Amino acid sequence: MHGRFCPICGKSIDYAIDGLCIECYRKSNPILRVPSELRLILCKSCFAYKFSGKWLVPPPVSSIDELVLYVAKKELMKIIKKKSNVESVNFDLKKEVVQHQERFTLIVKVKGRSYEKIPYSYIEEYAVPVKVNYVFCPACIDSRGKVERAVVQVRAKDRYLTTEEYNSVKSVISNTVAKALDENRDIVPLEIKGEKYLDITFSSLAAARKIASELQRNFPLKRMDTSKITGVSRTGKPQTKLTIRLLLPEFKKGDIVSISNKLYMVLAYEKDKVRVLSLSNYNEAVFSVKEIFSRAKIEAHSEDVEQVLVVAVTPPYIQLMDLKTFKVYEVRVDKVPLWIKEGENVGVADIHGRKVFLPL
Ligand SMILES: [Zn+2]
Ligand SMILES: [Zn+2]
Repeated sequence: MHGRFCPICGKSIDYAIDGLCIECYRKSNPILRVPSELRLILCKSCFAYKFSGKWLVPPPVSSIDELVLYVAKKELMKIIKKKSNVESVNFDLKKEVVQHQERFTLIVKVKGRSYEKIPYSYIEEYAVPVKVNYVFCPACIDSRGKVERAVVQVRAKDRYLTTEEYNSVKSVISNTVAKALDENRDIVPLEIKGEKYLDITFSSLAAARKIASELQRNFPLKRMDTSKITGVSRTGKPQTKLTIRLLLPEFKKGDIVSISNKLYMVLAYEKDKVRVLSLSNYNEAVFSVKEIFSRAKIEAHSEDVEQVLVVAVTPPYIQLMDLKTFKVYEVRVDKVPLWIKEGENVGVADIHGRKVFLPL
């Protein structure tokens, strides 16, 4: 007999790594070395959390479980981001109650390979115990013993809220208040005002933060927290005011935006994301708040889109009739979009002198 054998399992091997068969190599070389446990520091009062030594504002979550998952995931991603051998990763949080104590375990599933010469990628699963330490964050400690006001301002960038936006923001607020009322009386707003925008005033910072996080989960909002001391109360306590500014994008449904020089029509706000239709290949795509606020530029409003009737399609020309003036004109296109049919109404927008077609 000739050939090589794995010194651990004795199997004959045609491909050895460090002298071992792939299975035995994998056993002692995981794709990822996870910490033996994660220790999180969270503020139960407002859901702020400590990360890399700094307190960060509450993320868009609505329960402690979601907060634990959010922060644990972020801690793990710090490690995973540095690993080039991980192809994809998936997180899940397990919760058990042992002797009235909550025990969290983060389940991490990674796909990848522990050594680049292994000819295939595979999935490994790790369970990381998560210890949670609940404390009051500096903002909450600060707010104790103070007469305070906290305002959540909901706005849209450079425009008013639409009636639809206004109403759905209001209904998320009342649902959140109704749900949290049993454990937290402070959650009831002192005042809600505004017709084209919303200012919601609370007597507690934690309540304002909770509402703001809940709104962030439901709308594509950019958030900014600022606080300042506004004076001294009659009883000599410092008065502070926290303002949480939540900003919806400048564009609304039906508007045309460009993202990295490509044109899209805005279809809908989907929770904290924006669904769009590509005007180059007419496929749908979804963008995150971050991408929207950093890269999207408004090119045309829905009001600027004209309705036309497709009279004839004779590539590379499309003959159109303006449905307001009944004027017939011709447009030359590089490629006639497949969905454009004679006898149908379509939308046309003029973007930098170029005609762009939109389904109605
Ligand atoms: Zn072996
Ligand atoms: Zn707090």
